[in-house]
Amino acid sequence: MLLELQNSILKMVAQGDELGVMLARLCSEVELLLPGAHASILTLDENNLLHPCAAPSLPDQYTSALDNIPIGPSIGSCGTAAFLQKSVTVIDIKRDPLWEPYKSLALSFGLRACFSSPIFGSNGTVLGTFALYFEEPRAPSLLEQTIVIGCLPICMIALESHERLQEHRRLAFTDVMTSLPNRAKFYEALQKKRSNDEWSLLLLDVDHLKTVNDTFGHAAGDDLISVVATRLASAVHPLPAYRLGGDEFAVILDETLRKPLEEIVDRIVAMARQPVKCNGHTILPTVTIGIARSNECFSVAETRHHADIALYHAKDISRGTFAIYDETIASVILKRAEAIRNVAEALNDNRIEAWYQPIVRIDTGEVVGVEALARMRLSDGTIVPAAQFHEATKDAHVAVNLTQHMIRCISRDVGNWLRLGIPFQHVGINLSAADFSGNDILQSLEKAFAAENVPLRHVILEVTESVYICEQNQNIANKIASFRAAGFKVALDDFGTGFASLTHLITVPVDIIKIDKSFIDHLGCEHAGTCIVEGIIDIAKGMGMRVIAEGVETLAQAELLVERDCILGQGYLYSKAIPADEMATLLERRGQRQDSAPKIEGAVQRRGGIRA
Ligand code: C2E
Ligand code: CA
Ligand code: CA
Repeated sequence: MLLELQNSILKMVAQGDELGVMLARLCSEVELLLPGAHASILTLDENNLLHPCAAPSLPDQYTSALDNIPIGPSIGSCGTAAFLQKSVTVIDIKRDPLWEPYKSLALSFGLRACFSSPIFGSNGTVLGTFALYFEEPRAPSLLEQTIVIGCLPICMIALESHERLQEHRRLAFTDVMTSLPNRAKFYEALQKKRSNDEWSLLLLDVDHLKTVNDTFGHAAGDDLISVVATRLASAVHPLPAYRLGGDEFAVILDETLRKPLEEIVDRIVAMARQPVKCNGHTILPTVTIGIARSNECFSVAETRHHADIALYHAKDISRGTFAIYDETIASVILKRAEAIRNVAEALNDNRIEAWYQPIVRIDTGEVVGVEALARMRLSDGTIVPAAQFHEATKDAHVAVNLTQHMIRCISRDVGNWLRLGIPFQHVGINLSAADFSGNDILQSLEKAFAAENVPLRHVILEVTESVYICEQNQNIANKIASFRAAGFKVALDDFGTGFASLTHLITVPVDIIKIDKSFIDHLGCEHAGTCIVEGIIDIAKGMGMRVIAEGVETLAQAELLVERDCILGQGYLYSKAIPADEMATLLERRGQRQDSAPKIEGAVQRRGGIRA
């Protein structure tokens, strides 16, 4: 009978049944074999406190009173057995001094005798106790002793396998590096949330982790992750912070913290910013956070998606701080996604073309260069200007493909012009931030122009100020230097829009500065606007750089520019971007010949356009 009992419990262990259920079954089976006995199993925790685990025939009020009792030399039968690590037989609870502190409790439930044995683990530690209670004072029988001895190993197996399962579970839900709950745990927690409860989801991303890894090594990157994890966990304590993987963390905020959302987020951002030593290097970490509030109109999964969108948006426009999802953010992102899709499709269908806008000597009207601008041809023949889709270049993959495609078109067009002897000086090519991440941009430029026999001095690489200024990235400075060393010219595009620091111009020199249209728009209208343009022209000249005014639309602007010694302009006053064959005709007529002596003075072209 004992064997049968052992087997049935072992089977439950093998099936992974719940511990309480298995041991309650064991107790009930024992009670069937030993009429009059009440079996009870307590577990012992690492703080030496007892906890009821199974005692199906004892009253709940009695067993729950045993919870959290510390073991000791005279703590009833079980507390003493666990403490002394040997069996304890109490024949009469009423009289035995071991039961002094608990006897009124036991007697009030009619319990009079109790024999308890420690359950040892395989390493000899005490895992709990197995006890038999009786309602009259008595000593244990031989059968009772035999059955207890037979049950102890079963209890051990059940308790240890439960412990192992718990440990597995804990590990499966814990991130090894940071000890924070992991992605699986995050999903579990998120699943318990409801749309109509009030909570917010924070997704946090450590900025520039890749740069830290690349510059200081992976050990430094790991240190950075660990420090941010600790800081985040303490900023939101007692709520858990989850590590979703890589440099991404999450927090589900609810009313537990009793603080306004912005206050908590400010605290996280501020805590993250403290300097940290990573593998011997001091780093000033920053984090970017995307936030979505629960909303009964949206499912939990949608809220998660909204937090992703907010994070994506924050990384784009407010790195180092946070963005809270709203409909404006959603429409910006949707528009971008649409642009990305459209450009990817157009590239695939070969519907992206290089058009050219002339850069003109304002004083003579000669075309001294052209800027290549991407145009998308729709299936109905409509031509879409880049302004309507250049958001797509925020997607690294599309951006790189677009540049590669444009390089192919431009090198072919310029090669043709030169072969035909068309007077041609320079072509500007717009680069995106993504072009600086890979290694091959310089190579593919060199290869494409070499194949068409176009000397590199004809090529100007236009880098927008926001890319150029990207301080975190020494890589950009190095690439710009290597472009110039290879013989390309580099222009700083949209100058004045991206907080260019002048020290940057000293450390990373360029050949040309293109003053952004927004400044040219103010020329002659406001004193301040005019002063800024004058200042830029003076700085550029002082540093030996050429200046091109972008977006020149009126004769008045052209005159003011020439007066201020800026003789290169680009804008609708002269021409919009036109297809390559039209540009060939324009160059034939107005292209600056290399042998033509530069005329600094001279009248501003009185005619508006130069195409007629
Ligand atoms: P951008 O490099 O600053 O190019 C100048 C933009 O201003 C062009 O718009 C041009 O058509 C427009 N523009 C020129 N003169 C005037 C003017 O007098 N008035 C007005 N209102 N606009 C003028 P587009 O072609 O739509 O290009 C917009 C932006 O898209 C470009 O700004 C550039 O950042 C980007 N882009 C264009 N082509 C490419 C390309 O091939 N590759 C990459 N990565 N970006 C490109
Ligand atoms: Ca440009
Ligand atoms: Ca520009």
